[in-house]
Amino acid sequence: MIRIFLAIIILASLSPPSRADQPQKNQSRLILVTIDGLRWQELFRGADPELVSDSKYNHDQEEALTPFLKNDDRAATLMPFMTNVIGNDGVIIGNRDAGSCARVTNAWWFSYPGYNEILTGKADDNINSNASIDNPNITFLEWLNGQNEFAKSVYAFGSWDAFPAIINANRSHLPVNAGFMPLDGNPSAELDVLNRLQGEVAHPFDTVRHDAFTHEFSRYTMRTKAPRVLYIAYGETDDFAHEGRYDQVLYSAQRTDKFIRELWTAVQADPQWEGHTTMIITTDHGRGQTPKEAWQHHASPLATQGYLKSLNTYPDGIVGSDAVWMAAIGPNINPSAGKAYTMAHCATSSQVAATALKALGLNWQDFDPTIGKPLDVFKH
Ligand SMILES: [Zn+2]
Repeated sequence: MIRIFLAIIILASLSPPSRADQPQKNQSRLILVTIDGLRWQELFRGADPELVSDSKYNHDQEEALTPFLKNDDRAATLMPFMTNVIGNDGVIIGNRDAGSCARVTNAWWFSYPGYNEILTGKADDNINSNASIDNPNITFLEWLNGQNEFAKSVYAFGSWDAFPAIINANRSHLPVNAGFMPLDGNPSAELDVLNRLQGEVAHPFDTVRHDAFTHEFSRYTMRTKAPRVLYIAYGETDDFAHEGRYDQVLYSAQRTDKFIRELWTAVQADPQWEGHTTMIITTDHGRGQTPKEAWQHHASPLATQGYLKSLNTYPDGIVGSDAVWMAAIGPNINPSAGKAYTMAHCATSSQVAATALKALGLNWQDFDPTIGKPLDVFKH
C-alpha cells in the first residue's frame, strides 16, 4: 500500500506541472472588512473620556476602563493595529480632526443603505429600511462571482442576519454566512464546536451574533477554501452603541482590531496571499456627537422625520452620522496617498466598490461605469 502511494507521488512529481504550479496571470486577492457604525471619533481619538466617566453608559466601573484613557495616544490604545500598522503602512481617510473627510452619499445614514452603497458603488435611496428584503441591486461581489476568474471564490460573512438579503444570496448564489447560520464544510471538531457554540453562548442581540464567530468562520474559510475575495462584516460595535453600552463598544472595537490584525498576519504567513492581497476596511455610517447622548444613534434628517419614529426628537437628524472613514493596506496602496480628501472634497462610501475592483487589478467600469471612482490611494 505504501509502495503504491509512493509510486503515485513519484508519478505525480514527474508529470507536467499542474495548473496550480504555473504562474497565474493574476493572483490578486481582496479582504473587505466593515465594522458596523464605528465612529471616526473612536478610531482616530480613541476612547472618549467624557463617555467613559459617565456611569449611565458603562456597567463596568470607571477604574476598569481607565486603561483606555491612560496612554497619551488613546487611538493606539483602543485600536493598535489600525493606528500603528494601517496608519503607517496603509492609508486611512476620515480623520476630521486632521481635515480628512469621508462620508456616505445615501439619504438615510443607517446600515442597509450604507452597505448597499459600499457594495454596489452607489446610493439607492429606495433602500430605506433595515428590513431583510432582497437587494434589487447587484453588488460587486455578485458581479465578481459571475466572472470566470472569480467564480466560486467569493465568500461573505456577517454578524448581522440581514446580509443574505443585502448581497441577495437567493439571486447571486454567493455563499453568505450571517446571523446564526451554521457554516457548512467538511466535518471537523473545530467547525462542530463553532456551530454549536454560536447558538449556545448567551448572546445579547437577536439578529446579530458575536463577532468572534463571524471571525472564526472567516478564518476557517480562508484556510480551507483559499478565496480570492472575502468580505467580513463585523457588527457588535453598532448594537452595543444603540444599547448605550460605551464600555462594550470599547471592548468590541479593541477585539475587532485584534481580529483584523489576525487576518493580516494570516495573509503575510501564506504565500497564496502574501504580496498580492489588499485589505480594505470601512464602516457603513457614523454616529452623533452632540448632544452628548447622540453617540448612540445615527440617522439622517429624512430618516428622523419619517421612517425612524423613535428618533423624531431629532428633526435635523443625528448630526454628523453621515461621517465615515475608510482604510486600505496592500502591495499597491501608497501610504502617502489619501491626502486629496479634505473637508471640501470628501471621499465617499460609493468609491469603495471601484477601489476594491481596482485593487484586484480589474477595470471597475466593466462592473458599472456609473459608480463612484476608485479612491486615490494607489501607487499606480
Ligand atoms: Zn445602527
